[in-house]
Amino acid sequence: AKQSGRNRFRFFDVSISQKTQEAFKNIESVKQALENNELRLHYQPKVNLRNGMVIGFEALLRWQHPALGLLPPDAFLPAVERTDVIIDIGDWVIEQTLCQLRIWNAEGHHWPTSVNIAARHFQLPNFVDRLQRLLAKHSDVEPRLLDLEIVESTAIDNLEHVSQCLIDCQQMGVTFSLDDFGTGFSSLNYLKRLPAQTIKIDKSFVRDILHDKDDLALSEAIINLSRTFEREVIAEGVETDLQEKMLLAMGCYLVQGYGIAPPMPAEQVSDWATLYEL
Ligand code: C2E
Ligand code: CA
Ligand code: CA
Ligand code: CA
Repeated sequence: AKQSGRNRFRFFDVSISQKTQEAFKNIESVKQALENNELRLHYQPKVNLRNGMVIGFEALLRWQHPALGLLPPDAFLPAVERTDVIIDIGDWVIEQTLCQLRIWNAEGHHWPTSVNIAARHFQLPNFVDRLQRLLAKHSDVEPRLLDLEIVESTAIDNLEHVSQCLIDCQQMGVTFSLDDFGTGFSSLNYLKRLPAQTIKIDKSFVRDILHDKDDLALSEAIINLSRTFEREVIAEGVETDLQEKMLLAMGCYLVQGYGIAPPMPAEQVSDWATLYEL
């Protein structure tokens, strides 16, 4: 029994170290992807249903993997979420977006574009300085065109710091959105404490808005909250015309989702927008 016990332990040790190695390999490979310039941004439009205009875009990360093809963020970001690689990726995403904004500006488009910022990145003590440096490096792009989407659960530990951070960034012109609103632990507290301009109704509420009266009620409550707190509200994950109609009837006219357009490479954006606004 003792013998097998020892073996079991040895076996256990090996499997832990294999797992660690596996995870480390993933971290390394994602880091390599960044260094090898294999990361891409796709842009999903946000539109105003009332006037049929494009109001901006959300930049969404992809990995153009040499063997596996185009990978979505859920396939590789979790591996690096708790490491500093997520910070390097975040800085890259911001810079890449600023470069894209410059290209669109030159074509006469001034679309505010949002990027997703990870909790770890956003909570860096020097986040504001880092952002300021990136904006200074791309000083031909107006900071007001950059919107940062933060998932509300991000803020849990140091709401005080995060709130000050928002204020400092807003002084530079950058705006904020509360992503996945309503899904975290203390949405109402965040709404009260964080001066974000926009709240995004999570797609899990929008999905069943026509069939589930709870999701309908929650969506309506969020829309009413946005009015009371004088924030913009946008619904994500809008896939059907009936969802659009329901949201419009409740007073939410800014939407994003496959029903409008999926995320697309930058090269397709201008043509798509021209057709949409026709
Ligand atoms: P998110 O910020 O909530 O982004 C919305 C996700 O919903 C995107 O998935 C988008 O492609 C997808 N989506 C858009 N319209 C619809 C729709 O009508 N129906 C449904 N079912 N889904 C829709 P994606 O691109 O796979 O991104 C997944 C998540 O990965 C994002 O969720 C975000 O949390 C994270 N992410 C994406 N890009 C970045 C990034 O650059 N940095 C960080 N830190 N996270 C990112
Ligand atoms: Ca988002
Ligand atoms: Ca979201
Ligand atoms: Ca439609």
